[in-house]
Amino acid sequence: MPTNFIFRFEKANLFIPFQMPNKRQRQAAVNRQTTPEDARRSSVIARMEKIKDQLQIPEYVEQNQPRVWLEESYDLGDLVFAVLDIPWKAFYEKAQSLLEQYKDYEMTIRTDLLTQIDWRHYQPPQPEKESHEPSFKKWFPLNLFTRPIKKPSAQEPPAATEGTSNRTPRTIAQGLAAPEQTAYCQVAQLYDDVKHSLTDYPAMATLLAHYCTNAASDYYLQAIKTLDMTRLTDLDRSIMEQNGFLRVLHHEIYWCNALVQCSECVERYMKSFPTPDFLMKSYAGMDDRELCAASVAILKMMAEQLRLLADFQPELASLVQYTLVEADLHPDKSADQRYGDALLVRHSGVAAGQKLYEQLRLRMLGRLSLPQEKASSRRHPDIASRSYFVADNLPAVAMAEFVQLCSQHETARKCQHCGMLFLSKNTGAKCCNRKSPNGGLRTCREVRKEERASEREVPPPVDVLNKVNKRMNGRLSRSLGMTTERRASILKIWRKEVKPLVQEASDHPETFDEEAFDAQLCEIFDRVRQEEAAAERRRQKEAAKKRGRKRKA
Ligand SMILES: [Zn+2]
Repeated sequence: MPTNFIFRFEKANLFIPFQMPNKRQRQAAVNRQTTPEDARRSSVIARMEKIKDQLQIPEYVEQNQPRVWLEESYDLGDLVFAVLDIPWKAFYEKAQSLLEQYKDYEMTIRTDLLTQIDWRHYQPPQPEKESHEPSFKKWFPLNLFTRPIKKPSAQEPPAATEGTSNRTPRTIAQGLAAPEQTAYCQVAQLYDDVKHSLTDYPAMATLLAHYCTNAASDYYLQAIKTLDMTRLTDLDRSIMEQNGFLRVLHHEIYWCNALVQCSECVERYMKSFPTPDFLMKSYAGMDDRELCAASVAILKMMAEQLRLLADFQPELASLVQYTLVEADLHPDKSADQRYGDALLVRHSGVAAGQKLYEQLRLRMLGRLSLPQEKASSRRHPDIASRSYFVADNLPAVAMAEFVQLCSQHETARKCQHCGMLFLSKNTGAKCCNRKSPNGGLRTCREVRKEERASEREVPPPVDVLNKVNKRMNGRLSRSLGMTTERRASILKIWRKEVKPLVQEASDHPETFDEEAFDAQLCEIFDRVRQEEAAAERRRQKEAAKKRGRKRKA
């Protein structure tokens, strides 16, 4: 596995450095930027490159610093929950079935030509007179799609490309027109499906992208390095020239170069899916064999990550349940104690997790320091010297994050909306921030909040009652000689009288007519008001009579 995952943690964040593309990739990126993010990134990279060029760079930093110079931060927990929530097994099975379907497209590169073959005593195949075959001079500068005709592997054992010759040739345009049969379309589609399922897990999406859209081209680039002819002595080269092995070696390097370009092409297509890559468009009339071969290489590497994640899922779920979730249910015991327990107690999932933890090929990348740089001139003052972890598989990164969560006493609880686990951060939060369970538009927390609001919402008849009440209260307060007590008492009588009506109207929302109900309430109010006024007048008369009797007496 050529690709390593590099990362580090801080209190609440996981930091993933993004790799500096090499010069060729940078130029290609400038030529076609697919997203605003790409544009932003390449401008940052250009700036960082300028700074780098001004520095005296020791070899070590030269090799490593470009990979760790710039980094992006993600919420801690992203990887752990991505491992738990995503249907990795289904994705892996899909990848497996595609691999089975396209296995004939594979082109094997003999990276061991110089080490395993006895090339000093190479015997060329018998009739070696096909002069129409392009010589290697014609292939450079490399024109991707004018290739030497590869002979059946039986005649040319070192360059094995079984299975590529017995297919009917197809152009890229034809391949794109029938995506359900085309390897690169299917691979890009699968990657797009995985990416889509990871919208709530940006850290996992980024790591997977670093892997799936880099690994194959990286592999072929490494293969070219191992086939490097320039390291041969002049004597060796003349032996090769005489016995014809040079041609074999040239062919292999040629195919390697073609596969580097094709895998980069498919990797770009995966990012821009469903839009075809620019190279696909400009070579649309050409044979698509190498594109298919590169797709199979990419698919193989992607399938391996998917398999590891599918295997790890139940183990990690069990571990998380035993530690982070338990700690949330029993706050008296801290999460790291739970973690200690989990590693001690015999528990099938925990045991598996422990085994995995022991097997983790996590390495610590030594602290990287920026060389001879004044703090004042540093563009990124916070990146002076840092330690990073390195792992060659995604479960290892997720496991490292899990251990980090435990050591930070984090706890996890079930979202009451979607049922998936989330970090509770010791708050009263009942729902998570995932959007995918709700159609990708709102988080569980937002949905729950809205539901609460609508639960609290008053039924329309009560709303009308309150409105009328407010209006009548205003009217009463403006009438002469009205005391606060009398006003309250009138409203009280009225509310008591209309209460059954409001209840009935609320029970039958289908026949509710706001305007009519409003009028009805007002009518009752007027009656109550008149009755009260009559009663008041009677009271005053009584009082007057009493006073009269008192005076007479
Ligand atoms: Zn949720």
